Amino acid sequence: MPDIIQLLPDSVANQIAAGEVIQRPASALKELLENAVDAGATSIQVIIKDSGKSLIQILDNGCGMSMTDARLSFERHATSKIRNAEDLFAIRTMGFRGEALASIAAIAQVEMKTRKHDEETGTLIEIEGARFIRQETVTCPPGTSFSIRNLFFNVPARRNFLKSNTVEARHIIEEFERVALANPQVAMSLHQNGLEVFKLQAGNLRQRIVSVFGTPYNERLVPVEESTSLLNISGFAGKPEFARKTRGEQFFFVNHRFVKDPYLHHAVTGAFEELLPRDSYASYFLYLDIDPGRIDINIHPTKTEIKFDDDRSVYAIVRAAVKRSLGQFSVAPVLDFERETNFDLPYSMRNAPVQVPTIDIDSSYNPFRRETMPQRPDGWQRLYDVVKPDVAPLLSSSQPPVEESQLSALPEETPDVDEQVLVQIHLRYILSPVKSGLILIDQQAAHERILYERYLDNLKKKPGAIQQKLFPLTLDFNATDAAVLRELGDDFKMLGFDLSEFSAQTFVVQGTPPDLAEGQEKEIIESILEQYKINKDEFRNHRQETVAKVMAKKTALKPGQKLSRQEMKHLVDELFFCQKPSASPDGKPVMVSLSLEELAGKFR
Ligand code: ADP
Ligand code: MG
Repeated sequence: MPDIIQLLPDSVANQIAAGEVIQRPASALKELLENAVDAGATSIQVIIKDSGKSLIQILDNGCGMSMTDARLSFERHATSKIRNAEDLFAIRTMGFRGEALASIAAIAQVEMKTRKHDEETGTLIEIEGARFIRQETVTCPPGTSFSIRNLFFNVPARRNFLKSNTVEARHIIEEFERVALANPQVAMSLHQNGLEVFKLQAGNLRQRIVSVFGTPYNERLVPVEESTSLLNISGFAGKPEFARKTRGEQFFFVNHRFVKDPYLHHAVTGAFEELLPRDSYASYFLYLDIDPGRIDINIHPTKTEIKFDDDRSVYAIVRAAVKRSLGQFSVAPVLDFERETNFDLPYSMRNAPVQVPTIDIDSSYNPFRRETMPQRPDGWQRLYDVVKPDVAPLLSSSQPPVEESQLSALPEETPDVDEQVLVQIHLRYILSPVKSGLILIDQQAAHERILYERYLDNLKKKPGAIQQKLFPLTLDFNATDAAVLRELGDDFKMLGFDLSEFSAQTFVVQGTPPDLAEGQEKEIIESILEQYKINKDEFRNHRQETVAKVMAKKTALKPGQKLSRQEMKHLVDELFFCQKPSASPDGKPVMVSLSLEELAGKFR
């Protein structure tokens, strides 16, 4: 038996490769546009006839090629962009496979003219169906131009599979738009059948988006900007009120390359959650800049798919960044620390790193916002009526038994503080003179009461505010806890937890109620689950109360925490907005009072 294996001739191999890279005229255009960008062009002109079936012409002012390079560029695996395997992990160019020109030349009639900027003359090369026709020296402007005629002329099967002109023309525009959006610094034009479709000036990204999609887009864009150690993200999200019923403009670019990534798409749509009307789609133009060593783009010949080595973090960052932008630009009801001037941070957030501003997606209710507070009960107001701040020095100068270190400075010189006198004692009680004498408030019990009522309110009526995490937390549970957590999912949501199931026993915490300090998440979730397991009946009957109590106890201020005057005032104010200010959720007294008579009696 003779041996039967043969090496395929290059022309056949190229035609096979072309099948993968060049599926339609638009794919040829994409490759040519990307080559022009890689060549550093600042201007690219495209002329299309018959949706690219009969002609694709592209002219750039990039670096051009020498005579030898011009000839070599049509060889398979001929590239100037990488030299060895390591370079594959540092790719900043669009191309690197060295396949496009060889593939195109295998299935079309190609004419290329190219000239380097520092050379007097250029080179013309003609190739038809991988067959070299001629190469000569010509005069031409610096840069490179290609004419691709009669694509698939020698592959009838492929030619017959092409869709109608309108469909193919749409694909052409799509590819053109993608490259245009990825490279706003390049002037680009597109003519189809003699009509000017795009004429785009070089500019910034916003200008580019507006010139591609129309002037109304100028008002629809919300900037997205986030820098992390893993990646930088920039670009724009479309305001939800302009969301469209059809799948809108959704663009993801990674290192200037347009990619299709359902996972990242999910991250963005997650950020839009609850902001979009039903059946409408968000638009976004997002640009990720990441160390090329952390991604793999060599998954598919068309290079529109990508793999991240740490896709979960990428997901989280994208989601948080978009959510934050939507929030900051007040397209969502927001607690925005920068703009809300009379907004005081909740106590427990003082020490927590506030990387992402709280975004109150679920409700417009902000318990700390003055105007949403109920009127202060009259009685409480009257308690303070006659007590002026000049009483304060008297109080704080009483040296023993209160040590200086344990006594908060008082009063602060802020002119706007009102007349209420508040002193923190032993970092656990708040002392305040009132009309009838003085009262002493236990800061922990008071805060527990405040939080308890707020959580209960969240659970029963209005979902609590969520503080989105920049880096979501993955928590593992045993099978039972995971089952309980699932059962209590709605309660957690109402409290302000943004939890999603990652797998049977793993949950991802994307956001928490704002009162939670960093690192407390697992402990709190577990204590709620624990309560459930310990006392199922009690839990069943008073589920919301039990959950609110656990949350309140866990997140409340503890003794030893120093409070500023503002914080004390806040605490006292809020305490007296509570329905039952006198007792903690476990029934312990929140305050004791001493009347003037009692005091006088003691001094006889
Ligand atoms: P790749 O882009 O993957 O390197 P191509 O087959 O697309 O492979 O191109 C082969 C080579 O031809 C490129 O590496 C580049 O050196 C050169 N080339 C292609 N198009 C241009 C152009 N418009 N301007 C300058 N050089 C080009
Ligand atoms: Mg290329």
